[in-house]
Amino acid sequence: MKVYILTDMEGVSGVSRQEMVRPNEGGEHYQYGRKCLTEDINAAVAGAFDGGATEVVVNDGHGGGRHLILEDADPRAIYERPVSALDICPSLDESFSAMLMVGAHAMAGTLNGFLDHTQSSASWFNYYLNGEKHGEIGESAAIAGHFGVPLLMVTGDQAACDEAKRLYDTPVTVPVKVARGRMHAIIIHPQKARQMIREGAEQAMSFVGKHEPWILPKPITVRLELYRTDMADSMAGSDRITRIDARTVEMTVDSQLEIMKWA
Ligand SMILES: [Zn+2]
Repeated sequence: MKVYILTDMEGVSGVSRQEMVRPNEGGEHYQYGRKCLTEDINAAVAGAFDGGATEVVVNDGHGGGRHLILEDADPRAIYERPVSALDICPSLDESFSAMLMVGAHAMAGTLNGFLDHTQSSASWFNYYLNGEKHGEIGESAAIAGHFGVPLLMVTGDQAACDEAKRLYDTPVTVPVKVARGRMHAIIIHPQKARQMIREGAEQAMSFVGKHEPWILPKPITVRLELYRTDMADSMAGSDRITRIDARTVEMTVDSQLEIMKWA
């Protein structure tokens, strides 16, 4: 049983301030964030193996990768990172039985979502698939769904877990903190959080074969509202993209793998 673990940093246990997820300006806070990420990953990997996984691939997915501390990560897993915005999960394919998301955050515009955003916190305002607002959990569930792989666990703040339950019926969610506004989080102790993540991942394995992947009706209408009109100006040159209004662009795709194929 092969398990794919897609990770982000904003929803990692112990991460309670923005500096912890920012390599360029985070300093010692970022280094602590890396340690927290690595320990959450180790907990999920251990839980997956506890629950019967035979192979685990971990994707260091935050901001292009290179955040987890590989030397401290569980040697039983295999590690990779996104190749590009269009190739986020390089080795994910139909041979996997489950996707687990560790360290997830809520979509842009979520009240009390810690560091809520969808892809770019500088330019993406709202993102819709077939008319419904989604965020990065949805994008990940859709990419997994393309390969027939169900999303069986999400760990992150309470808002991310609520989003996973509400939109994708994710069977196991592990809330490790509660946000007070966008920039602050009340955290549970990381040791307790990691124990919960390990137990959650083990429990998620019991849903393999019992939970459907997320399949969208095709073709898929993908709509993106940007913050400013010039951001839409710069995307509107392609034949594939329709300008809806000053700051909104839309495209239609046939595959769940193409839901971020703006270029
Ligand atoms: Zn991130």
